[in-house]
Amino acid sequence: MSDSLETLKPVPEPDAESAPYWQGANDGRFMFQRCSTCGKSQFYPRSLCRHCRARELKWEQSKGLGKVASYSVVHRAPTPAFRTNSPYVLALIDMDEGFRFMCNVIHCDPASVGIGDTVRVVYESRPGSTQKIPQVEKI
Ligand SMILES: [Zn+2]
Repeated sequence: MSDSLETLKPVPEPDAESAPYWQGANDGRFMFQRCSTCGKSQFYPRSLCRHCRARELKWEQSKGLGKVASYSVVHRAPTPAFRTNSPYVLALIDMDEGFRFMCNVIHCDPASVGIGDTVRVVYESRPGSTQKIPQVEKI
C-alpha cells in the first residue's frame, strides 16, 4: 500500500442493494428501506426484511433527524487516514423513522456529545472520491 492510499479514508463501493442509498447521499437525501409486508424500517440496505424476512422492500427518504443512542470517543485512530480527526465520535443514532444508523458526530467538540442529543444528517466529502458520506451533527 502506498503512502497516499494509507492517508485516504475508505470510500464505499455501492452494490445492487446499497446503490439507492449511496445515490441518495450524493443527492442530499438520506434513504432507508421499509418492508411492504410488516411496515418496519431497516438499515443498512438488505435484500430481505430483517424483521419478517419478506423480500418486498421499498425505499423512503428519511427526514434526517435522530437521537444519539450510544457513542464512543475515539482517541487512537484505527488507520493513519483518521489521525487528523482524532479525537472523534463514533455513534449509534436512533433515527426518527425507527432504524439505527452508525456514523460520526461531526462539527462539534467530542466531549460535548451525550446520549439523547438530537442530531441531523449531513454529508461529508472525502478526498479522492465523489461519493458523499452521511454523518450527523448536533442541533
Ligand atoms: Zn418485514
